[in-house]
Amino acid sequence: MRILIISIISTLLYACGTPKGQVLTSAPIIEKPVKPKIAKNVIFLIGDGMGIGQITAGTYANGNKTSLERFSVIGLHKPYSHNSLITDSAAAATSFACGVKTFNGAIGVDNDTLPVRTLLEEAEAYNMPTGLVASSTIVHATPASFIAHNVSRKNYEEIAADFLKTDIDYFVGGGKKYFDRRTDERDLVTELTTKGYAMGNFLEDFSTYKSKNNTANKIGYLTSDSDPLPVAQGRDYLIDASMHGIEFLDNKSTGGFFIMIESSQIDWGGHSNDEDYIISEFLEFDKLIGQVLDWADKDGETLVVLTADHETGGFTIQPGSTMDSMVTTFTSTKHSGDFIPVFADGPGADKFSGLYENTDIYHRIREAYGWE
Ligand code: MG
Ligand code: ZN
Repeated sequence: MRILIISIISTLLYACGTPKGQVLTSAPIIEKPVKPKIAKNVIFLIGDGMGIGQITAGTYANGNKTSLERFSVIGLHKPYSHNSLITDSAAAATSFACGVKTFNGAIGVDNDTLPVRTLLEEAEAYNMPTGLVASSTIVHATPASFIAHNVSRKNYEEIAADFLKTDIDYFVGGGKKYFDRRTDERDLVTELTTKGYAMGNFLEDFSTYKSKNNTANKIGYLTSDSDPLPVAQGRDYLIDASMHGIEFLDNKSTGGFFIMIESSQIDWGGHSNDEDYIISEFLEFDKLIGQVLDWADKDGETLVVLTADHETGGFTIQPGSTMDSMVTTFTSTKHSGDFIPVFADGPGADKFSGLYENTDIYHRIREAYGWE
């Protein structure tokens, strides 16, 4: 009897979540959502290291035009982590994915190192198809925080193994070596194939690829052995992989999907104090954002949320600049602590106006889905 009561209480606590987030103490069993569903699909876009300076310079470099002007709602989030006013990408993405402030370096775990259920895992529990696309490795801090649970962002092989523990339907990014050349000699590409994933380059002809692989109901594409190239050096998959992913997940789903897409290397341009690197990565992302908004406008049931995890480099536009010729400076090669803009469009977008914690993005996405 006592065991029964304890298990009822813990089930209730689990179902309600806690202010600290939903610690994964047992297998996720979720009742049907009871709150009204506002958005069917959520497309969550993250520009790593994309602060106001990066957005401004990218917009002027693009002839004073950006897709960001199309968003109906703008807000600001406070990006600090649990142990530092200056967050890293892991703690920041964990705040978005899990709704907790945690320590820098943490992947999907709270400040006590306990695993916390992510938005992607919760969507899977509701039987919704899910996806991750990044222009870094797919085990890098930002995408990893949506699918893995680890005390360190550097444990790339352990993070890769966590891909086998979920039912993610679609993922694209670099880092193949963490899947098939591992110290434990597991071949995760083979394991994923056995689990039903088509693992290969599908970008040449997506529809032929889908029909050839019609027994495979999931798709994974590891685009490079380690880090993908900068866009200026020939990386060209981010836009196509993202738009194919949205189409793939939408076709699989009757009850909505979740996808997180990251433009990863705006941050790397900031770390290397390279204005051209920042702008070329931003311009690719800007084009992708335009296509995502076109798709979402047509769909009418999709919430699009765009933000950054933090700013990188303390990048600003200086006196003497013109729109055609900007004089920019960096104040460091590290992240800065400034508030970060949030852009939202589609059903539920109004929830994203205001100034709030980065963890509130998690809560507002859950509200938009109608999750209890
Ligand atoms: Mg990142
Ligand atoms: Zn960084």
